[in-house]
Amino acid sequence: MNKIIVSACLLGCECRYDGKSKPCSKVLELAKKKDTVLIPVCPEQMGGLPTPRVPSERQRTSKGSLRSISRYGAVLMKDGRDATEEYKKGAEAALMIAKLNDAEFAILKSGSPSCGKGLIYDGSFSGKKAPGNGVTAELLLQNGIKVITEEDL
Ligand code: SF4
Repeated sequence: MNKIIVSACLLGCECRYDGKSKPCSKVLELAKKKDTVLIPVCPEQMGGLPTPRVPSERQRTSKGSLRSISRYGAVLMKDGRDATEEYKKGAEAALMIAKLNDAEFAILKSGSPSCGKGLIYDGSFSGKKAPGNGVTAELLLQNGIKVITEEDL
């Protein structure tokens, strides 16, 4: 049986910052496969953030790298509040769920400061993206879990 961690918003859960979902037809097709179990997680909710919530982005230095204030890097809300601890807590909860289920693979939402892989919003709240991983994607990768986004399917 394939066990796959999945961003809950891709399965239609209304857990995004704006209270909406981002259902992905390819992920929903995968959910119908008999040999596959999808395990939904929403790291931002699991980290204690409300829904809806003020959007957040990982912050970068002027050189473009992630500014590290913890082992994950800073996450600031659009109104300036620091949400790093909530993002860290949510990432650790997602990792715990992956380990408890022996999941070796994750399909996460592209662009998100939690779930994005390879390219995320650049910290300027201007809609621009830059190379980097979300906090949860980063922690799963560090722990040997293969991560792709719905765009890779
Ligand atoms: Fe939750 Fe990740 Fe979807 Fe954001 S992208 S709503 S953290 S599951």
